[in-house]
Amino acid sequence: MSKKHGKHHRGQKRDDGVTESADLHGSGRPSTARWAGGVAETAPDVLGGPPPIPVRAAPGIVTVAPGTRFDLAAVDTGADGGLDKAWAKDALAKERERIIALQERLYAERARSLLLVFQAIDTGGKDGTIRSVLKGVNPQGCTVTSFKVPSSDERDHDFLWRYHARTPGRGMIGVFNRSHYEDVLVVRVKGLVPEAVWQSRYGQINDFERLLTESGTTLIKFFLHISKAEQKKRLEARIADPEKHWKFDPADLVERKSWDAYQQAFADALTRCSTPDAPWLVVPADHKWFRNYVIARTVADTLEAMDPRFPEAPKGIAELTVPD
Ligand code: ADP
Repeated sequence: MSKKHGKHHRGQKRDDGVTESADLHGSGRPSTARWAGGVAETAPDVLGGPPPIPVRAAPGIVTVAPGTRFDLAAVDTGADGGLDKAWAKDALAKERERIIALQERLYAERARSLLLVFQAIDTGGKDGTIRSVLKGVNPQGCTVTSFKVPSSDERDHDFLWRYHARTPGRGMIGVFNRSHYEDVLVVRVKGLVPEAVWQSRYGQINDFERLLTESGTTLIKFFLHISKAEQKKRLEARIADPEKHWKFDPADLVERKSWDAYQQAFADALTRCSTPDAPWLVVPADHKWFRNYVIARTVADTLEAMDPRFPEAPKGIAELTVPD
């Protein structure tokens, strides 16, 4: 809803029953005032959200500098930041506790949202990362969407339609397991649309992400970077272990032949779609324990920077008594 339609006041129900926040600045323009936290005074209008919160990447993660050609091959997929594996496992548990506590505040504040985007080559570890990092988070405050081959209904719309529909609402953490980037990755590598179409999508993706960040959603985009040798090991493990057979898709062996084309497509997406408000973070991901720890820390640190606050208590609540 645009500001010119924003006739509701905080606490009022809209026609569709959704409680909406008011623009208390009353300027008719999106607010650029620093977000002070708390729903009561500063809840944003949809188009007048708080300024985007910078993503806080953990040490060991490589942030793609906006506006520069990114050399993906130069990133060491086996880096472990010099950390000790046992230490990192304990540290991961602590980061999870931070995420759980901050998520409760984000949910209670119900003003902004966080979107975690995960992209990787097949076997890159998206599922395992999501399971590990978000363990213990209140499921009511979190939605995970795994994007597959588009349905015919989805193909009948613009390519962003299905992704926009799954972005997190206020107070929510949204997780994209694969994302709108597939439309410049697999679609490009397999030649599913003409080049002119996928070429125009980088700019469209940047515009889409700008809409989200300017509407109060913080985006953290993780590229899980594994080596070709590590992918071979993981595919072999899926073939060798009966309990992993369900994860094995023979199509992955075919896709592996396009390894170089995927690396090129990833590098171009990282280069062209890393922006100051929605930068790409490249995670060395051969070591799962390192990957999980640095991602959890990044999520916790970014949530902390967002500084979500519980809403102000209604006046006089402490004096209230509950009738028998
Ligand atoms: P995952 O590998 O993520 O665990 P699947 O094995 O079901 O899940 O694979 C999902 C498939 O959907 C992948 O091959 C991926 O390339 C494909 N896919 C996702 N988005 C698109 C898209 N926009 N266009 C074409 N294919 C897509």
